[in-house]
Amino acid sequence: MLSFDNRFRRELPGDGETRNQVREVYGAWRMAHGAAWSAVLPTPVAAPGLLAHSPEMAAALGLPEGWERKPEWAEVLAGNAILPGMEPYASCYGGHQFGHWAGQLGDGRAISLGEVVAKDGQRWELQLKGAGRTPYSRRGDGRAVLRSCLREFLCSEAMHHLGVPTTRALSLVSTGETVWRDMFYDGNPAPEPGAIVCRVAPSFIRFGHFELPAARQDRVLLQRLVDFTIARYFPELTTAADPLAAWFLAVCERTGRLLARWMQVGFVHGVMNTDNMSILGLTIDYGPYGWLEDYDPGWTPNTTDAAGRRYCFARQPEVARWNLERLADALVGLRPGGDLAELLPAYDAAYADEMTRLFAGKFGFVAWQDGDAALVADALTLLHRAELDMTEFFRQLAWVDAGSDPLAYLEWAAYRPRSWRDCRAGWLAWLERYVQRLQQDGLPPEQRRARMNAHNPRYVLRNYLAQQAIDAAEAGDTGPILALQEVLRRPYEEQPGKAAFAAKRPEWARHRAGCSMLSCSS
Ligand code: AMP
Ligand code: MG
Repeated sequence: MLSFDNRFRRELPGDGETRNQVREVYGAWRMAHGAAWSAVLPTPVAAPGLLAHSPEMAAALGLPEGWERKPEWAEVLAGNAILPGMEPYASCYGGHQFGHWAGQLGDGRAISLGEVVAKDGQRWELQLKGAGRTPYSRRGDGRAVLRSCLREFLCSEAMHHLGVPTTRALSLVSTGETVWRDMFYDGNPAPEPGAIVCRVAPSFIRFGHFELPAARQDRVLLQRLVDFTIARYFPELTTAADPLAAWFLAVCERTGRLLARWMQVGFVHGVMNTDNMSILGLTIDYGPYGWLEDYDPGWTPNTTDAAGRRYCFARQPEVARWNLERLADALVGLRPGGDLAELLPAYDAAYADEMTRLFAGKFGFVAWQDGDAALVADALTLLHRAELDMTEFFRQLAWVDAGSDPLAYLEWAAYRPRSWRDCRAGWLAWLERYVQRLQQDGLPPEQRRARMNAHNPRYVLRNYLAQQAIDAAEAGDTGPILALQEVLRRPYEEQPGKAAFAAKRPEWARHRAGCSMLSCSS
């Protein structure tokens, strides 16, 4: 059986109100400070069925052998049954959405079940997304649709195997119920199959958890949240001369390294609101995310973001910094006279450091040198102009010295013959500089290819592949989910017979909803 030790609920103040009613949650009546959570039970669903699970995550948690065949577990992972030791709650946070303060948001459709202490001592919070209404549901129904749960389930595990810090996913459960969604926000809601994903992370604390008490001038709650976070997740900093500064610095560094990872693999989060930023530097809240296909720095998968492109690929590092500024603003009340924003260069440094390390690997350099920045920037400009597939390009680049015509390799990555032709001369000139640069290092080609391939995934969860898995699952076939899970487990390795999973986006997917653009409706 799982062993629980629910520190978030035990050590932080809770809501005095126990009725599950949408409201602003401040705390118990006459309490001097607000609440970090509200006790709430998942709303049972009609017919839970386990569609997919992560054996790696189950093993980390210590689930019993064969659990996935037992219907009792589908009941637990749908929120229909509560295990001994679980103490479900929804947490209270705010956030800046698209650059504007949005006030209280909170877990509107996520319910944490409790904190598992695994045999190895590692602690994991379990959280059900789509488990029903909470005091934070505002106008929402507290539910989630199969398509968005499937995307979160597959992508969180894929990111983990890519080496990108992320929340994990244990299970994907169908509810046997339908959920109404207006996918295109055009006034035509339609019924869709409902689902619940069980997310797993050491903590789901977001920047927004600190922003809300700060906005409410609730210093007591703010201080308690900070103390809890440092003591529980950054214990090595409790003895620092200035634990608050040391902790903010650590968050800056983790966020910097996270963003470099996204840029390495071509991931676009799509909704980098401050309520979707993890205090542990994890990728969190998989919504209308997407993967770059043809390399376009201005691409955003989120239809709500199409006009402003605030969350497009290239702007992610600057938005993360802006979000850290909001966190610094929130913490300033705990630190009269000192501005934590002074520490933001730590974010820039961590990001730059990780980017140069990762991009040296992507291009096959032994180490980053002066002058590499221009060479890499020129390649990225050409990638964009030539409309090359980012993932395919970097795998092909490893081979350019292997044959007589290096352009023949790169052409594999091209989406449009015309854009490719227009850039051929540019690529030839660039390749000449590139080969010279490689010669300086003098790595044997096989060794360099291995180094490049360890930084350039062969398989990512391409937007159209996820959509194909969704179409199949909605028709009752979970085979494609399993097949994707399998191949995404070893994303950097060439896997025989799996070329279809590495294929560039087919033409039909260029403008299809779910493949090239996603709405926030989920
Ligand atoms: P997101 O855009 O997913 O980060 O969500 C922003 C806020 O809206 C969070 O507070 C969510 O909990 C809430 N929310 C999103 N969808 C729903 C829903 N279907 N029901 C209730 N709350 C929701
Ligand atoms: Mg969110």
